[in-house]
Amino acid sequence: MSPSAAQPERAPLTIYTARRVVTMDESLPEATAIGVIGDRIVCVGDADGMQAWREGRKVTVDDRLKDRVLLPGFIDNHVHPFLGALLLPTEIIAPEDWRRPDGGVARAANNPREYLERLKAWIADRAGKDEWLISWGYQPPVHGKLTRRDLDALCPDAPLLLQQRSFHEVFVNTRAMEKLGVRRDMVAGHPQVNWEDGHFFETGRWLAMHRLMPWQMRKEWYHRGLGMLAQLCMQGGLTTIGDQLFGAVDPEYELAAIDAEIESKRLPLRVVNVLDARNFGNRAAGVKVGPPDQPIDFEKGLAVMERMLARGTRQVKFARAVKLFADGAMFSQLMQLGSPGYADGHHGEWLMSPEVLAAGVRTFWRAGFQIHVHVNGDAGMDAVLSALEAAQREVPRLDHRFTVHHLGFHAAAQSRRLAALGAVASVNPYYLHALGDAYSVLGLGSDRASQIVRAGSLVRAGVPVSFHSDYPMAPTEPLFLAWCAATRRTRSGRVAAPTERLTLEQALRGITIDAAHALFIDHEIGSIAAGKRADFTVLGENPRDAGPERLKDIPILGTVFDGELRLLPNPATSVHAARAMARSALAYRPVDPACCATAGDHCDVIREFAHWARQALLGQYPKRVTS
Ligand SMILES: [Zn+2]
Ligand SMILES: [Zn+2]
Repeated sequence: MSPSAAQPERAPLTIYTARRVVTMDESLPEATAIGVIGDRIVCVGDADGMQAWREGRKVTVDDRLKDRVLLPGFIDNHVHPFLGALLLPTEIIAPEDWRRPDGGVARAANNPREYLERLKAWIADRAGKDEWLISWGYQPPVHGKLTRRDLDALCPDAPLLLQQRSFHEVFVNTRAMEKLGVRRDMVAGHPQVNWEDGHFFETGRWLAMHRLMPWQMRKEWYHRGLGMLAQLCMQGGLTTIGDQLFGAVDPEYELAAIDAEIESKRLPLRVVNVLDARNFGNRAAGVKVGPPDQPIDFEKGLAVMERMLARGTRQVKFARAVKLFADGAMFSQLMQLGSPGYADGHHGEWLMSPEVLAAGVRTFWRAGFQIHVHVNGDAGMDAVLSALEAAQREVPRLDHRFTVHHLGFHAAAQSRRLAALGAVASVNPYYLHALGDAYSVLGLGSDRASQIVRAGSLVRAGVPVSFHSDYPMAPTEPLFLAWCAATRRTRSGRVAAPTERLTLEQALRGITIDAAHALFIDHEIGSIAAGKRADFTVLGENPRDAGPERLKDIPILGTVFDGELRLLPNPATSVHAARAMARSALAYRPVDPACCATAGDHCDVIREFAHWARQALLGQYPKRVTS
C-alpha cells in the first residue's frame, strides 16, 4: 500500500489540560496536559507539544480540569469488599467519624447521651420501614451499657441488633431474639451468652450472627452494601482496589455481585482479586475451617485457583497471587511479639501456625504465584521471614514481590532481612494514628508504641512501601493514609517517632506507583506515562504545595477512569480533615485475649463472617428468619 492510499481513520485524541499533572514518574515529574486515546495515555507534556499525536486525528481539548490537579488514579491494594458489603447497609453510630456512602458523615458519638440520641432518632425514622434494625459501632465503654430491657424500651416493636465496634459482641432486644429464633433453653449454660441482657459475645455471638447472615446475604443487602463500598472508594479518589481475600465466601457469588454492582453499572473502579489460600484449599478438600495448626490442602486449592485466573473481565482482574496469614491482629493486641513480649504478660495468637504458613509459602512459591502475607508482630515476622528464606533457598526467584501486609510492629533488623530477600511491604499507617497513644500505656510501652508501622526505616532499607485501608479497619481515604505515614500524628496530635515519617514523595508513592507495584500492575497503572491506562485522580490542590500536614484536607473532585472523566456530585474530603485530632474520645481497649483465643482477631472475625456467609449461601442455616 502506497503512503498516499487512504489511511484507516485514526482514533480520536482527547487532551486533558490541568493546572498541574503530578505524574509520579521520576523521568517527567510534572506536566500540564495528558493526551488520551481510548483508555490509554499516549502523551504527557503540555497541550501544544503533542503534534506527533494530532496528525490525522480528531482532537478534543478537554479543559474542564484546567484549574485542577491530576495524580495517577489512587490504589488501595488491601480492601475487604465482602466485609464492607455486610457492614455498610447497617446504621453506623461509632466512637469515631465514618464517611457515609451518600457523601455525608456518620459523626462520632462520644458519650452515652450522644449515642442514645442518635439511636433514638434512627429508630423513630426506620422502625416499621425496615424488617431489621441493625446498627454497627456500639462501644459500651464509650456509649454506656445497654441491656435487653433498655433496648426494648427504645424499640418495643421492631427487631433491633447492635453490633459492637470490633464485631466481638452483639446486643439485641426481645423482638430480635424472637425473630432470630433464639430461645432461652438454647443458650442455657452458654458461658458467652447473657440471655437476660440480650448480650451475645465471642463464641456466643455465633448463635445470633449465623441466624442473621441469611438476611445479610440476600442480594438486597449484600449487593447494596457492595455498591456502597464502591461509592466510598470513589469518594476517596480510588480507581483500583485489591481484594485481599477473594473467594472467602463463594467465588461465584462474589463475582456476580461485583458484576452487578460495579461493572454493569459502569462504576469507575477496578478490582484486583488476590485469592484466599485457606478457603480455596479447604473448599477443594471438603474440609471445614479449623484451628491455626490444622493442615490446609494448598495443592488442591491451587488446582481450583488456576482455573479461576481466566475469569477476569474489563474491570475485574485476577492476580496470580494468594493471601496467607501469620499472627493475630493489631487492634486486638494478638500479634505475636518477640522479646520482651507484652508488658502485661499476655500472649499473641497465630492465624496460621508457622508450619502451616511455611507449607503455604512453599506450595505457592514453587507454583510461581505472588504471595501476600498478613503479619503484625515481630515474632510473626520471624515466621514469615523463615518461610520466605526457606523457599528462596529451595527455588531462587527474582522479582517475586512477596508482600508483607500491615506490619503493626517489627524490628529494625527485620527491615534489612526483608530487603535482602526481595520482599515489599503494604502497611496500614492508620494503626499508629489510632493506637499509638493507647498502646504506649497498654501492652507495648511508649517506645515500641511509637514505632508502630516503622515505614521510614523500611524505605531507607530499600523496601518499597505502600499503604492500605484493610477496609473496614481504616477509611478508604488514601490521602488520609498518606497523611498518617507522612506526619505520624497520633490521635492526641503528637508526632510519634519522627524519624519514621515518610517524605511527601514517598507518601504519594504509597498510594500510587508503589501500591501498583505490590499488585504487579505498575506496568499498567500507578503513574501517568505514555502507554499506561488513563486513570487519574482529580484534586482541588497540589499535594506538593499543601505539604504533609495538609494532605488529608485536600478535596477529591472525582477521577478519570480508563479515559473517562467521572466527577463526584460533591467534592469529598477525609472525615479527618480540619478537625482537632484530639476531639475523639475513643478510649481504645484491645479485646480480652483470655476470651478471644479462638476468635480474637479482626482477621479471624473476617474469617468467621466468611464462614457464616458461606453457610447462609449453602442453605445450611435457616434461610428464612421467621417472626
Ligand atoms: Zn489482615
Ligand atoms: Zn485484611
